[in-house]
Amino acid sequence: MSSCELKMNQKYFPLDKTALEEIARQYPTPFYIYDEKAILENVRRIKTAFSVFPSYINHFAVKALPNPYILKLLAAEGFGADCSSYPELLLADMVGMKGENIMLTSNETPAHEYETARKLGAVINLDDYTHIEFLERTAGLPELISMRYNPGPLKEGNAIIGKPEEAKYGFPRDGLIQGYSLLKEKGVKRFALHTMVASNELSVPYHIETARLLFELAVEIKEKTGVRLEFVNLGGGVGIPYKLDQEAIDYKTLVDGIQKAYNEIIKPSGLDPLGIRTEWGRVVIGPYGWLVARAVHKKEIYRNYIALDACMADMMRPALYSAYHHITVAGKENAPLAETYDVVGSLCENNDKFAVQRKLPKIEVSADGGAGDLVIIHDAGAHGRAMGFNYNGKLRCGELLLRTDGSIVQIRRPETVDDYFATLDLTGVKNFN
Ligand SMILES: *Cc1c(COP(=O)(O)O)cnc(C)c1O
Repeated sequence: MSSCELKMNQKYFPLDKTALEEIARQYPTPFYIYDEKAILENVRRIKTAFSVFPSYINHFAVKALPNPYILKLLAAEGFGADCSSYPELLLADMVGMKGENIMLTSNETPAHEYETARKLGAVINLDDYTHIEFLERTAGLPELISMRYNPGPLKEGNAIIGKPEEAKYGFPRDGLIQGYSLLKEKGVKRFALHTMVASNELSVPYHIETARLLFELAVEIKEKTGVRLEFVNLGGGVGIPYKLDQEAIDYKTLVDGIQKAYNEIIKPSGLDPLGIRTEWGRVVIGPYGWLVARAVHKKEIYRNYIALDACMADMMRPALYSAYHHITVAGKENAPLAETYDVVGSLCENNDKFAVQRKLPKIEVSADGGAGDLVIIHDAGAHGRAMGFNYNGKLRCGELLLRTDGSIVQIRRPETVDDYFATLDLTGVKNFN
């Protein structure tokens, strides 16, 4: 099976048990592993689909996987970055993403982040009307400005991001129109429009409707303010099929729908050529990264538990959103699902569960004297390692990259106790009475 044809009822993983055990000998579990070849194939399919537009850039949402090795691969493919903090701006800059390939889509932004964005020549995407004056006063107004639209009741939200009306982000429609007028008065020359209304949304019509909404707004902006937008940014939020019965979004179907709206709305309005931007994170990397852990303990009480050497410090999504992540056991891909387990980590929180009452093959654990099975947690490439934390003194695992030539590069080492203590002055503690 090609890495990119993810069929229903199966989950792709690039390595067999022997190869994975070999890697685990050199890099002890747990670790994240990302598949370069599959990522690049996916990136190229995205670029090909969007090549119908006058210009297209995906600003990869750095928060999804803030690792400079991965970002460098994306930069070489012409992807830019969507940043929302000072360290994310530094990451984008460090991998050679330049100028307007970087977009700062932040909220409640401190002045120094605007200053850094200005220095890098990044596109600043304002989140509120009051930030026009704030930006002017602090970092100064650049030649190009984007603004984030919050459609409020005009658009249904979804489970992760919530309803736009209840979301803290962006300008309402009137404020946005006033914003363009004010910026024009203040001498800003170039303009863009952004929205981000959903997260992990698998409905193609939903994303097409978002594009349509922005195109119609672009026309209204031109009519009411005379401002001619240079590009619209459709944001992120494209979902991936975490569950076996879900289907991946077909890029061509999605782009055909957006193009139809473009032809109907943008072409007759005289706004053509209008650039298209996205801020996709999850769909770019999510299916091509896995958390690999070893089964270390088995506990049989009111329920049967399998404990891994990874915990929610390494991956938050199941605990945070009750998110489903498919689990397979290396070498037991076709074994009967004979057992029902809660698959858990070692954190002292009862939501530290990668799976609840999940049907799985019988799992061997290392406490029984053997190596213990290698457990693969799928679709962990985006919003996985990045969300981890150190609560309970848990040290986060490292990251590996499976290169296109089959070699392995450690792109982040596991944390150590020294990392955990790095923010403390331990000499100060000794002398503290
Ligand atoms: C998180 C985020 C994204 C990326 O979302 P994905 O679901 O990973 O595509 C894009 N833009 C903004 C503003 C975000 O906050």
